[in-house]
Amino acid sequence: MSTDVESLLRAPTAYALARKAIAAMEQHKVWPTPVNFEIWLHYVADKESPLAVEIDQLIEAGEAFTDAVGEQLAEKHLPKAKLNGEILEAGDALAQELDSVSRAIESARETSEAYGQQLATASKSLENEDATAIKTMVETLTTATQRVQRENRTLETQLADTTAEVTRLREHLELVRRDAMTDGLTHLANRKAFDEALEKACAEAEAEGRTLTLAVLDIDHFKSFNDTWGHQTGDQVIRYVASVIGRAGAAPRVAARYGGEEFALIFPGEAGETALTVLEEIREEVSSRVLKRRSTNEDLGAITISAGLAERKAGEAMSSLVERADAALYASKRGGRNRTTAADKVAAQAA
Ligand code: GH3
Ligand code: MG
Ligand code: MG
Repeated sequence: MSTDVESLLRAPTAYALARKAIAAMEQHKVWPTPVNFEIWLHYVADKESPLAVEIDQLIEAGEAFTDAVGEQLAEKHLPKAKLNGEILEAGDALAQELDSVSRAIESARETSEAYGQQLATASKSLENEDATAIKTMVETLTTATQRVQRENRTLETQLADTTAEVTRLREHLELVRRDAMTDGLTHLANRKAFDEALEKACAEAEAEGRTLTLAVLDIDHFKSFNDTWGHQTGDQVIRYVASVIGRAGAAPRVAARYGGEEFALIFPGEAGETALTVLEEIREEVSSRVLKRRSTNEDLGAITISAGLAERKAGEAMSSLVERADAALYASKRGGRNRTTAADKVAAQAA
């Protein structure tokens, strides 16, 4: 799991960490902009993280840390879900507000339209009466009504503009929302989306008394793969593994990139046995494919993955389900990797 920089920054070591980040930025001639500061904080906080590995490669290659490079690093590695979440909430509130304004204007328009028609009818029925005073009064009212209707038409045009703007905003928000929930490298659900989906799945399973299975998957010996072939080729492999997992994870299942080279699959309404079959298919597909390096066509050999799964017990908290699936994954690792373990097997062995 990646280092939780947020909590490191709330610890007594925070100031030392910040000083280290500044020193590193100065050493590598990086401007101390907020984005760069965040990047380099992560860098000094965890030298093993994919971000740090990429920075080390850039340093080694003698690349300059321009603003563009900083933005790319941030886009790829930094958690942006929190900020986006706030934007989304604000946007939702705005859309709701505009919706109710639209409804109010629409109902005002209908009311005054009806009023105008009533007056016109009344005026007609009075035409034959010799009641000049009443007629004058009605005519005055009719003129007033026509003015109101004219104003309403202006209002209507404004409403149409506003509605178009709301639609545009909503579409934009939908894009931002999707972006905030998607992992940039693999296009699978990201960690935030995974957390939300699993929380929802747990709540639904509890409310409806339904089955729910969680699986976690991790690429085997990936550190040495990266060391041999480089981070970029490593990224290609992550993308390949993600594509296999993604194909098995069509809705209502959820396929997510949980961390660096770790993935998760949520199986709402499905038992551990079904999930086991799916995981074994994924594992076999990945391990049977001989991968080639895109740039040089070199043979990268086979990649293997280990997996663990846990079927949710009635009343079980989300954190416990994740822990059991993780424990099953580690049992797969300990057992020699390239295998899938179900949590109940781990529990049976431990007993
Ligand atoms: P095992 O899981 O089999 O126990 O060994 P491992 O070497 O895969 O285990 P570990 O979790 O310790 O290492 C994961 C490595 O994955 C560390 C890092 O080099 C690499 N990694 C993590 N995220 C990324 C990424 O986004 N891109 C690339 N290329 N590598 C990554
Ligand atoms: Mg691994
Ligand atoms: Mg790992």
